[in-house]
Amino acid sequence: MKRPFFPALRLRRAPGLRALSLCAVLLAAACAGNPNPAPPPAPPAAIPARGGTGARRLVFIGLDGWGGAYVSKADMPRVKGMIARGASTFKARAVLPTVSWPNWSSLFSGAAPEIREGRGDFPSLFTVLKNHPGKAGGAVLFYEWEPLAGLCDDAAAEKRRIRSTAESAREVAAYIREKKPVFTAVVFDEPDGTGHEKRWGSRAYYRRLNEMDGYIGLIEDAVKEAGIYDETVFVISADHGGSFWGHGHNLPKQRAIPLIIRGRGVKEGFTIPPPVSICDIAPTMAAILGLEIPGEWTGRPLGDLFQ
Ligand SMILES: [Zn+2]
Repeated sequence: MKRPFFPALRLRRAPGLRALSLCAVLLAAACAGNPNPAPPPAPPAAIPARGGTGARRLVFIGLDGWGGAYVSKADMPRVKGMIARGASTFKARAVLPTVSWPNWSSLFSGAAPEIREGRGDFPSLFTVLKNHPGKAGGAVLFYEWEPLAGLCDDAAAEKRRIRSTAESAREVAAYIREKKPVFTAVVFDEPDGTGHEKRWGSRAYYRRLNEMDGYIGLIEDAVKEAGIYDETVFVISADHGGSFWGHGHNLPKQRAIPLIIRGRGVKEGFTIPPPVSICDIAPTMAAILGLEIPGEWTGRPLGDLFQ
């Protein structure tokens, strides 16, 4: 089940919380009789941009509710091709609770929810890209679940609403062929809905995964047709898995998610060693593109998967 109140709560609470903590600091200073309270600690220094993989573009595709336990048996020829020619793990770990908002936001912001709480200005990969010289304006976010529009502000990415349909996949493909974005993020809301309705691991769930594989294929073909395949890295992942008819708990089938990275500068046929957190995905994507990694991010780039 989706929890649309998560981002709303976060947005609404942020200013109030900040005002409250300011009052607390002032009050504490007054009580202590100290007219010059110590300034809050500066955030840790950013890891500066490095050469990256030489990739100039990155395409992220997320499938909501695709658990790592549901990769081996799935009929997903395009994804399996990327696994064979890329680096992958089916045991990356989602944060708790295993629901959508805490996980998609951790995936794009490199830190768990408790680190980002009350910080409306916490940097995401979209803001890092916006502030990087020469890369501003190069990001697009295709999203299906409405709260995901809140992953970044409107200045950091062009945003377009999609659905889990071939028509939407063709729309993404056309956009890539025409605009060749630096960072394309596509987040489909399936197979989550099918899992809730028909059960995770059911025949209907696997059928839906096969359909999603076709959409991924349309997007991969568009990158080839745009003539940018050799300079692009694909990252395919999810927010959480599921078991029976749901998710939200700390169970292996709900917590383990796939992470597949394929493209320029990435090792082929490589299994990414554990532990891998969903918080490592944003720093890894930043490293691939040669962007700086904000010091506030707690995830780390998965370095050993580069050639
Ligand atoms: Zn769900």
